[in-house]
Amino acid sequence: MFPGALSYLFGVWAAALALLAVPAAAHTHPAFAPGSVCTALADSGESAAALARDPARWDCSGRTWPIAGGRASFVRIDMSARPPVPGAALHTRLTRFTALSITALGAGGDSAERTITPHDLHLASTSWTMLAPLPRLAAGEPPRAYVLKVVSPRHKGLLSDARIAPPADARAVGNDALILAALCGLMIMPLVLNFAIFRVLRQPFALWHALGVFAMLMQTAVGSGLINRFVSLSVTQICALSSLSWSLIIIGASRFFDDLLEPGMLDRRHKRLLLAAIPWVLFWALYYNLASGPLLASAATAYYASFLPFILLLGWTMTTAVRRGSRTVWFQIVGWALLIVMGLIRIVSMLGATDAPLGLMTLQHFSIAFEVLVTTLGAADRFMALKDQRDRAVTQARVLESLAERDPLTGLYNRRGFEERYSRLVLEGFDTMALLDLDHFKAINDTRGHATGDAVLRAVAVALMPDEDTVVVRIGGEEFLLLLRGTNAAERAERRRQAIPARVAAEVPLLDRPVTASMGLVSEAPAMRFNDLYRQCDRLLYEAKAAGRNRTVSKSFAAIAQSPSLLEQTVVSLH
Ligand code: GH3
Ligand code: MG
Ligand code: MG
Repeated sequence: MFPGALSYLFGVWAAALALLAVPAAAHTHPAFAPGSVCTALADSGESAAALARDPARWDCSGRTWPIAGGRASFVRIDMSARPPVPGAALHTRLTRFTALSITALGAGGDSAERTITPHDLHLASTSWTMLAPLPRLAAGEPPRAYVLKVVSPRHKGLLSDARIAPPADARAVGNDALILAALCGLMIMPLVLNFAIFRVLRQPFALWHALGVFAMLMQTAVGSGLINRFVSLSVTQICALSSLSWSLIIIGASRFFDDLLEPGMLDRRHKRLLLAAIPWVLFWALYYNLASGPLLASAATAYYASFLPFILLLGWTMTTAVRRGSRTVWFQIVGWALLIVMGLIRIVSMLGATDAPLGLMTLQHFSIAFEVLVTTLGAADRFMALKDQRDRAVTQARVLESLAERDPLTGLYNRRGFEERYSRLVLEGFDTMALLDLDHFKAINDTRGHATGDAVLRAVAVALMPDEDTVVVRIGGEEFLLLLRGTNAAERAERRRQAIPARVAAEVPLLDRPVTASMGLVSEAPAMRFNDLYRQCDRLLYEAKAAGRNRTVSKSFAAIAQSPSLLEQTVVSLH
């Protein structure tokens, strides 16, 4: 297939050179040589049989495929060298037209005409082809020629691709359908993947790529005829779907390209032009579908040519991005290369005689699937890069956040970090608060130095041992706060307070006296604001200090509820 495409491209190029080199030959009329294909343009009222009697009105050069809005284009396919096989039909490029009829011409001047209704047309399911049944001559004799009469065809291909042939081999059709279905299936995963990328990154490029992939899937299903296996569409509908899918491909591709590239790769003028591609393609797609009258003859050529500026723009922006060191653009270049070659072949062909051969459309389906795969790799690559960047930023933000809410000396929550969590903790069942203050701590600093004081604070943090039912906070200086939940919360707080001297002695040797702490504790408190509960603990702590330090003064809301006379009473526990 690839050598086929290249040799075709070479052929087009050689033909263009030959046209330039050889002066136009004088127009001769070999008058319907056996096997010849001749064309003519005439009023739509003219009959094919009458026109066929006048060879001078026909052009048999094989290069002229005349179209004019409101007039009829005629194609005479000579069958005298090779009579049609049974079951043969007219096969031609799928194209919109106003009216179509086929006339069979017999050897003795007799003829039979058949008007092709939309109902007669059969749309192929593995190629961009439509098939129409042939008329039969009354005598049952084989026709010398068939004459196709088309009023206002929209594309020269309807004339140039017309041939009389037997129906395609069913097995080959089945195989082709299988391959086309596989190509379509191949594009579904990237389509889904784009939504997954968008969910994680919220980057529009994923949605633009999804649009592009969807449009390419649509173009493959419609352009290959595969869609005709599943739904019955008219020629007008199928042509509209095809040009719509090309417009969506250009829109998706240009937006995706702009959004995907690393920042700073394109200037504002590149971006503006990429944006301008949207109204541009929409305008020409509408023009192709709606042009009539004098505009009809050039509608298809103008439409094809309208893709050329986009291809040039793509080339220019890609080159710019390469020069600026983009990595992402390489996925675009590799992905688009085949499609761009395909597009150029079709445009060059259309500016010459007629469109590239229908067989080349198969290469187009492969080129599209290849583009989808490679650009999806590009999207995944960019996704990984962006996710990496984002993960690093999130980690950094978390570190900064934890720096702000943690006490750097002990690693415990600081007051700010704790206060932010307080309401949630209360909802989670934390109802006992204890405030601890080290006794005569200043003396340690004064006699042993600040560094020993710090070591003592770290040892206290270890003794206070946070766990899933015990939140430990360094509320400031040598003051710590415990918030507990669950059974025996008060006892567990008390055990921690009592563990301080031994832990400090183990971690900071050579202290001349044990380091103790006083504690104010409120247990089983109803939900209340942090400041209110804290104030109550602070008052109890003050009482513990006043009572001689190294002790706990506590208050239990549960006990108060059972016996209101206990209100304002406190329990003192001594070490
Ligand atoms: P009391 O039993 O009444 O609580 O006496 P105290 O000496 O513990 O109380 P005071 O409030 O007078 O002293 C607290 C000391 O804690 C004063 C301050 O220098 C010291 N301090 C506060 N933060 C730190 C710290 O991060 N490291 C060290 N080493 N000392 C600290
Ligand atoms: Mg203090
Ligand atoms: Mg103190």
